[in-house]
Amino acid sequence: MNRSAWVIREHGVIGSPRLESLPLGSLPNGFVRITLKSLSLNHLDLWTTLGLPGIQLPLPVILGSDGSGVIEEICSSESLPFGLTVGSSVMIAPGLSCGSCFDCQSGNDMLCKSYKVMGHLTNGTASTILDVPIHNLLPIPSGWTFEEAAAFPLVFLTAWEMLVEKARLGFGETVLIWGGGSGIGTAAIQLTRMLGAKSIVVVGDDQKAVKCWDLGATHVLNRNRENIAERIKELTHKKGVDVVFEHTGPATWTTSMMACRRGGRIVTCGSTTGTDVALNLRSLFARQIVIQGSYMGKRSNFFKLLACLESGISNPPFRPIIDKVFDFKDYPAAQLYLESGQHFGKVICRVTNSSVIN
Ligand SMILES: [Zn+2]
Repeated sequence: MNRSAWVIREHGVIGSPRLESLPLGSLPNGFVRITLKSLSLNHLDLWTTLGLPGIQLPLPVILGSDGSGVIEEICSSESLPFGLTVGSSVMIAPGLSCGSCFDCQSGNDMLCKSYKVMGHLTNGTASTILDVPIHNLLPIPSGWTFEEAAAFPLVFLTAWEMLVEKARLGFGETVLIWGGGSGIGTAAIQLTRMLGAKSIVVVGDDQKAVKCWDLGATHVLNRNRENIAERIKELTHKKGVDVVFEHTGPATWTTSMMACRRGGRIVTCGSTTGTDVALNLRSLFARQIVIQGSYMGKRSNFFKLLACLESGISNPPFRPIIDKVFDFKDYPAAQLYLESGQHFGKVICRVTNSSVIN
């Protein structure tokens, strides 16, 4: 039995992954076999394709960190959580860890030395059939499509970790959210609203601005025709924002520092415009700003997110935002589309009957 998978054997340009037919082995203990329905792309897929300076990624690797599908087979000795069984629809948590070290045992699995994100340091979801550890199965919220389920895990987990765990966002506080049209930006806008805080969201065009308002943004700024630092001064009465939601890096860092209030927090989870920024230490210590890095999030927080939906705390309920759905076989085009920055929300690949190669 074979599966079709998007594989990186050597780093190359965006859109260069190849579709391969790979043999399926026997199902390992502690795993279930899933037929993929949809996957969503993240910038991590682009970094994995390009390669990261100074970091040796294990190749070959199957791409894809997010996915949803149907359970086809369960390792005979295992029982599944949440009432899941063969035929159940599931979404996939993207982080793998050892499960036994101090950090894993204390619930900080993303601090585990063995922590791996699927599709980056270990095989991922861009495969028509895949074997997934039972610990990584998540039930799909009622009424969500497979596309929405595939768009949820990585960006919502990361945004929750940044806003709730790292920034400790308080009721009535103000968050500056860069890249409001990105997958993580659309998650952050909705979670900020759910947490009773205000958002100042930055986008690159007016169409995206309207969509951000629809998601519950308090203010939306167009970086191509507004001075962001000046507008934030006006909107916060010269105080600055309480929290900066950073994921872009050098292109926004100086403004992030200027926009942050005395004693405020800057949380960063990404570096889409580069990894090196200038830091004025006097400004940092004199204004007592806290800068914190964040990477993925505690797996247990998936269940807090799902509980917010089930309990009605999220009202209106947050929902993954999907921009465009490609066929699985058009994965390279989906990568190029993500790189273009035209999207608002997530870019999806859906498996259809024509997606499989023999
Ligand atoms: Zn561990």
